[in-house]
Amino acid sequence: CFGCRYCGEIHVGSVGHPFRTCRGMSSDKRKGEHDWGSTFVEAVFLPVEAYHLEDRLGPRIPHDQRFEVPRIPALVELCIQAGLDLPEYPTKRRRKPIVKIGRKEFVDANEDDLPDPEPDKFKEPILEEVSDDEITPPSSPEETAALAEETLKMWETLRNGALRLMKRYSVRVCGYCPEVHIGASGHKARNCGAFKHQQRNGQHGWQAAVLDDLIPPRYVWHMPESGELQKELKIFYGQAPAVVEICIQGGAQVPEKYKATMRLDIGIPSSLKEAEMVV
Ligand SMILES: [Zn+2]
Ligand SMILES: [Zn+2]
Ligand SMILES: [Zn+2]
Repeated sequence: CFGCRYCGEIHVGSVGHPFRTCRGMSSDKRKGEHDWGSTFVEAVFLPVEAYHLEDRLGPRIPHDQRFEVPRIPALVELCIQAGLDLPEYPTKRRRKPIVKIGRKEFVDANEDDLPDPEPDKFKEPILEEVSDDEITPPSSPEETAALAEETLKMWETLRNGALRLMKRYSVRVCGYCPEVHIGASGHKARNCGAFKHQQRNGQHGWQAAVLDDLIPPRYVWHMPESGELQKELKIFYGQAPAVVEICIQGGAQVPEKYKATMRLDIGIPSSLKEAEMVV
């Protein structure tokens, strides 16, 4: 993988891509060409963080508490609210539905008649991040292909699982910036970073989130069979989420649902001459 030193563009392949789409600093000097360097896993798998709620039905987080509430990966917070117990991030569990006593007010149901909850049945510490030097690359093409298949399957499992949880537990996203909130009504921290946010006093504009807000698929160019991208043929090339493209270049089968955006349904001309004949 490569990342441009001047803009956020990333590319999956053995060399950078040739398209002059750079709008980063001094890109006019480079005539729009990207300046490719190394990249981080965070560029491929964008980290999205959200506040961890100690009570998902509790009062909304006020502006002045914005630095006291922990921020954790939004996906982890969604899992916690859906039932995952992590000792570091406790949260209130209700075993009976709440009792409404007004339009917005409620009280917790009396749970005295329930048996004591089983202690710490599923509790285990959150997975530690593996440090970079402990990660070893696959040693053979076969191992690479198997790892690519497995990784792609995990990516799909992750996305499908998150989508199903989002049907039960609300996820909100700001309409002006990428801020995500797990919970029904957003938080009240006035730290919206969007353009023109002053008019709204920095308040986020909460709306229903979609899966891509929670797990952003960073699209990259899909490398055609020919193994090279040609500047003149840009309009023919398709794209795929970076994780998917890495797995495919590693030897995984292309999942049916990505074939259209990858332009695998149309066939890519091998040269400008051939392209002109098609058009
Ligand atoms: Zn790479
Ligand atoms: Zn660039
Ligand atoms: Zn915002």
